[in-house]
Amino acid sequence: VIVIARRRRQAQLRMALDSKDPVESYQMSAAAGSSNGIGRGTAALFAKEGAKITITGRNSASLEETKQQCLKAGAKSENLLEIIGDITDESFNAKLISSTVEKFGKLDVLVNNAGGANFANWGKQIEDTPIAHFERMMDLNVKPALRLSQLAVPHLEKTKGAIVNVSSIGAYHMINPEPFYAASKSALDQITVQMAGSLIKKGIRVNSVNPGPVLTNFAINAGAPEEVSKAMFESIAANPAIPIGRVAYPEDIGKVILFLADRSKSEIIIGNIVTADGGCVLKSAMFPDN
Ligand code: NDP
Repeated sequence: VIVIARRRRQAQLRMALDSKDPVESYQMSAAAGSSNGIGRGTAALFAKEGAKITITGRNSASLEETKQQCLKAGAKSENLLEIIGDITDESFNAKLISSTVEKFGKLDVLVNNAGGANFANWGKQIEDTPIAHFERMMDLNVKPALRLSQLAVPHLEKTKGAIVNVSSIGAYHMINPEPFYAASKSALDQITVQMAGSLIKKGIRVNSVNPGPVLTNFAINAGAPEEVSKAMFESIAANPAIPIGRVAYPEDIGKVILFLADRSKSEIIIGNIVTADGGCVLKSAMFPDN
């Protein structure tokens, strides 16, 4: 009897879910930091799925390249909105959300991907790294994600949408060559968890993807010379510490973002920090050969 009752209850629940308005969960999305790297790869994947997308960044030439890749992936030009600006500027955050809703009428997904580091502080000891750099990292890697999310809440509540933050395995409790970058990504993970807890009450899901090494211009954009970035990736790629045996490509991370953004696939995942690193963090410094 209990089993039947449970089954009935499950059937009722299933009906309740099915009777919800069908949500095309990534029909409209704003991807912060989509003029390059992971954001560009993600925008192209969303485009392939038929999404309407706002793409953004500071560099107009890079943003144009993202637009071209989205068009190539099947986007219609009327389904793309490009907005150039600096994500650390609060008024720009407001413009990003309001222009998106104005153009497309709603917001389903916010991807907080924009971020960066500063090569000048790479390898510096924490006691020798200026506090101004800590502030810069928080201003770039944490505050915009928080502000954009706050601005997006009223719209995402209407669509029962999702926020996906792009953090890093640098957020975890490991020694990092850029401690304040690591600290900012740890703070972002806390923002993810805390927002997830409160926003699920409004039906909004918040999750994070935390990549390991991804082949992008991240180091170059952080100020590293091109040959240094190339050598860095070559040495990481040759490093037996990556169990999967390769670095990630932007699309690898984009697929995880797409999954977390799609309620039909990941509805039950709330406040998760999804490690996407080919197994890097599984390796123990004590047993490097295992
Ligand atoms: P890229 O440097 O290739 O891309 C960064 C994106 O963020 C660009 O579109 C850039 O646009 C945008 N951006 C940076 N600063 C600003 C700003 N002030 N205002 C507006 N847009 C800005 O790096 P990735 O694609 O590699 O990095 C994307 C995210 O992934 C970051 O949050 C990074 O921390 C994270 N990550 C990356 C890893 C990697 O190995 N590549 C590993 C782990 C995490 P523009 O320059 O046009 O302003």
